[in-house]
This record gives sequence, structure tokens and C-alpha cells, in this order.
Amino acid sequence: MEATADLTNPIFTDEDAAWAHYEGLRWPEGAICPKCGSVGNATRLANKTTRRVRKLKDGTEKVAEWTRRGVHKCKDCGSQFTATVGTVFEDSHIPMHKWLLATHLMCASKKGMSAAQLHRMLGFGSYRTAWFMAHRIREAMAERGAVQKLGGEGSGGIVEADETYHGKVENPSEFTTKGHKFRRSKHGAGPSNKRAIIALVERGGKARLFHVATANRVSVERIVRENVEKSARLHTDESRLYPRVGAEFKAHERVKHSRGEYARGDVHCNTAEGFFGVFKKGFAGVYQHCSEKHLHRYLSEYEFRFNTRTKLGVNDKERAALALQRTAGKRLTYRQPKDA
Ligand SMILES: [Zn+2]
Repeated sequence: MEATADLTNPIFTDEDAAWAHYEGLRWPEGAICPKCGSVGNATRLANKTTRRVRKLKDGTEKVAEWTRRGVHKCKDCGSQFTATVGTVFEDSHIPMHKWLLATHLMCASKKGMSAAQLHRMLGFGSYRTAWFMAHRIREAMAERGAVQKLGGEGSGGIVEADETYHGKVENPSEFTTKGHKFRRSKHGAGPSNKRAIIALVERGGKARLFHVATANRVSVERIVRENVEKSARLHTDESRLYPRVGAEFKAHERVKHSRGEYARGDVHCNTAEGFFGVFKKGFAGVYQHCSEKHLHRYLSEYEFRFNTRTKLGVNDKERAALALQRTAGKRLTYRQPKDA
């Protein structure tokens, strides 16, 4: 059985244990000074509690108290820093054990977790705080920088490509790029006015998801070219988006859904379709109101869980540890909400 969340672990309740856990993952070789880069040559300073009393207009006092934890002082350059410098947790007033709990919950839930659900389970802050935390954790999950192409050595060499449409676009266009008026289905929304998602899935391996404004030959070809090794076999359905780019690969094999064909030998797109199934089921149930501009963040979340799935030998604890390690070196896009 899959290792389940051991929520009795002190890292989820005790702030010092939480910091020690995070530092261990972030700095396996010892504290790294963000200013001069020296490794394992810093002293940990004692926790420091600050108390501030503010007199309000009505004569009452408002007391604020906070403790600075995890502060290290570099013996080489003298600068002070914590393990959260340069991570998605930087500048946050949210206690570390809450970050660890939120990360664990999001990594362990197969279909994702809404901000409302997270808010209830964390038992603190506001809905906005939970929303902010969830987005920062998604940012940690996202793969950034130079990522390996799919279908390379050791992967089995088959990459399935498929596209799906999910949720309405916010600014539907009335006309195609050729100037024809879109024909609507009887429900009023054809694929052209739905959010297009492209999936590339390595058979038995990793997936990559992309939200594109329009799934056309230009956008699809660019994604396939940039993300798939030329030595791979490309498997798609009979969509007209793939043959031209498909010719650049070792093979391009298509299943003909229109003829009721879903697999021919090892040629199929069942992995990609199965993945879309999980995504749609989870997404529709958990994140009904995701705005289009945030869609790529949710895609990162599903991609991350798929790429660290139990079948690949990763358990909940290891998945959460990986997400925590990836908190480093990420661009920060959200400000801390005032009520956090
Ligand atoms: Zn230093």
C-alpha cells in the first residue's frame, strides 16, 4: 500500500521540527550562504522573539509577537539568512509547519485540493491565505529551467501526443484566423472556444502539459519539436495537427479512432487519454472556478503528481520532499495577503 500521510509527524505541528526538516531537504550538505555561496560554514542563531505593543486610538493595546527561527550567520561573510531565502516560501509569515502540511496534503491527494478544502484542513488563516499557499506550492511543483526532452534514452522511446479541450475560454473569439465565423455546437461552444490543452506523455514515463490559446498546427508543432527527442516514435490519433511534424521523428504512428481503432499492436494514445481522464475528473470536481490565466499552474500540479506517481516508485512522503526541494530558485509572483 502507498505510504499515507503520517499527520502525527512533529514536522506538521512543531515549528522547530518543521524548520529542521526543511533545512535538511534544502541543504543536505549544510547551510548554503546565499550571499557568498559558502557551504556548511554558518552558525545557527538562537530563536529570537520580538514583542511589539501598539496603542490603538481607543486606548486599547494591540500586542504582536513573532519569533524568528532558522536564522544562520555565515562565518565567511557575516551575512544572516534562513533556508527560505530565494524560495517560494520567502517573505512569508506563515509558520513552516503549515507550509509542510499544505505541501504534504497537495502532494498526497490524487485529484488536487481546493483552497477551501486546504483552508479547512490547515485550520488557520483565511481562504485567501490558503489560495496563496496553494499557488506557491504549485510554483514549487512546476518543472523549470532546462528540462530533458521526452522519449530519450531509458524511456522506452514512445511518446504519445494528444489534445483536449476543457472549460470555456474567457474571451471567446467569433471568427477563425481565416475570418470565418465559428460555427457553434448546439451547446454554444465548439472546441475553438474552449481552453486547449496539449499533452505529451512518455509511454510508462513522464508527461508534460501545455495550455495553448489555440491548438493549431503552429502551436502543436512547436511544442512537439521542443519537447520530444527525434529518436522517439510519436503516437497520435488521426488529427491533422501531427503528420507534418511527425515526419521529423523516428516514426509517426496513428490510430484511427474514426474506424473504431484504439490500439494497433503497441500503437495507441491510451496513456495520454487516461491522463486527461484523471485530469478532467479531478479538475472538474475540485477546481471548477479556475481562471484561464492560472490554468498553467494547475497543469503543473497534475503533471507533477503524474511524474512522481506511485507506479514510478515514489511514495507520498518522497513526493512531498521533492516538492519542498523544488521550492528553491523559483520566481515569486504572489504577495503575501494581509490577512495571512
Ligand atoms: Zn556568506
